[in-house]
Amino acid sequence: MSESFQPALADYLRDESRRVGRADRLAFPRTEAEVLAALAEARAQRMPVTTQGARTGVTGGAVPEGGLVLNLAHMDQIQVEGETLRVQPGATLAAIRAAVPPHLYFAPDPTETSASIGGMISCNSSGALSFLHGPTRNHILGLRVALLNGDVVDLRRGRDQAAGLRFQLGSVSGELPPLRRPAVKNAAGYFVDPDMDLVDLFVGAEGTLGVVVEATLRLLPAPGAVWGLMAFLPSTAAVVGFVDALRQGTVDRRQESGDRKQETAALAALEYFDSNCLAFLREHADELASKGIAVPALPAGSACVYAEWHAPDAAAAEAALMAAAERLPEFGADPDVCILADNPHDVEKLKIFRHAAPEMVNSAIDERRKIHPGLVKLGTDMSVPDARLGDVLALYETDLAATDLEHLVFGHIGANHLHVNVLPRHPADYDAGRALYARWAAQVIAWGGSISAEHGIGKLKRDLFRQMVGDAALAQMRDLKKLFDPDNLLNPGTLL
Ligand SMILES: Cc1cc2nc3c(=O)[nH]c(=O)nc-3n(C[C@H](O)[C@H](O)[C@H](O)COP(=O)(O)OP(=O)(O)OC[C@H]3O[C@@H](n4cnc5c(N)ncnc54)[C@H](O)[C@@H]3O)c2cc1C
Repeated sequence: MSESFQPALADYLRDESRRVGRADRLAFPRTEAEVLAALAEARAQRMPVTTQGARTGVTGGAVPEGGLVLNLAHMDQIQVEGETLRVQPGATLAAIRAAVPPHLYFAPDPTETSASIGGMISCNSSGALSFLHGPTRNHILGLRVALLNGDVVDLRRGRDQAAGLRFQLGSVSGELPPLRRPAVKNAAGYFVDPDMDLVDLFVGAEGTLGVVVEATLRLLPAPGAVWGLMAFLPSTAAVVGFVDALRQGTVDRRQESGDRKQETAALAALEYFDSNCLAFLREHADELASKGIAVPALPAGSACVYAEWHAPDAAAAEAALMAAAERLPEFGADPDVCILADNPHDVEKLKIFRHAAPEMVNSAIDERRKIHPGLVKLGTDMSVPDARLGDVLALYETDLAATDLEHLVFGHIGANHLHVNVLPRHPADYDAGRALYARWAAQVIAWGGSISAEHGIGKLKRDLFRQMVGDAALAQMRDLKKLFDPDNLLNPGTLL
């Protein structure tokens, strides 16, 4: 199951952050027993263990810093059990979607469908549909987790809970620290609440407390109709106005008519592409076409908001979409230049197009690394409260306009969660981008936001995390980790 490190295995030293680590051995367990055996060996030899899923993470969480790499890709079984799925951690999002019965639906969608469910759980991943359905955490009914001490805990939501802050997990027991979380979309640090479901302690823990070896996933009834609208707006102020109008829910309801019961379409996703992002995708249209990704006609100089509705039927979806489109002139936008998707095929095409933004940024950076091998992209993952959406967009725009940095902004605007991507042309660009990032993070923290809304902290955001939660909370998190991992062997260097 485990092999000493070969150059051919070098891929397992990195993730999508492009950070490269080091390791002594690599194991591909196929069973829970093999995971336990690897952990026992690591414990006996005091050897660090880095757990990996599909290595699509962008914060270096799965990048090893010596010791053993425990790659779970071969534990990929999926079983349908009534209205739930029982899955092993290496099952990919694509495989899970394919296994879900057609009348049901697994909502988490971190756009990268090669991600593993173990990685999604450990990062508490989100995606466009988190606007309606929340992050991965909301869709986890149960977990089996292998602990470093050899215990395997089998946890069910609603059954296995803390008593106040006291908890017992196998032979590990103790007191949870009274950690506070910002009231925004957040994937930074351990999740702790009095009387919490203990499943939630491992969701978003970035593999620092144990190894997820099985999960039970909640499936939802599939919506009868899914419709999407790409609207093009002339300014950032117009974008914020349109997003606020959609969020206030004033445009997504079909009124009761005659004796028909009111049926509503739910706004499921609200995504954003700034004008630079659209220009970047236009520039790469040929490359995208060669990958089978069609770039729709994108008007120059505008920003784009993508909205998606899930509805009981096409009529309800259409009513919601039309009501939204009717509001566009108020924000200086022309409803006639919208792109409409009114069937699953076209909605999927728009989603693939949405995913192309981060993917193309990564491949552009890979090209530049041929000249400057150390170059990496700078990508933010911060969220702010609703009232600060306009402020944060203005902050990014003003600061970036004062530089010549190549940049683009896209992301989950419905949750005030935007990814600013700086594409350095040389190392000095990276340093200039970092300085801006530090300034923005300080402001986001002051506004009560989070420095990581969905990617987690990994190895790249520890300084910002410390700034956000403070030394006292960090010390409490370290004490919690020590209960599970006294010698700091599990994913050392990640999160804490
Ligand atoms: C182009 C692109 C777009 C993306 N878009 C999004 C997005 O919209 N939303 C979003 O949330 N993310 C996004 N991501 C990030 C990434 O896909 C997610 O974080 C994903 O959940 C990581 O899954 P993985 O299997 O690749 O995990 P890995 O990268 O392998 O690991 C991530 C972390 O989880 C830990 N881990 C993995 N498996 C286990 C396990 N079984 N037990 C314990 N710990 C484990 C690892 O140690 C590491 O700390 C994107 C990535 C790319 C490349």
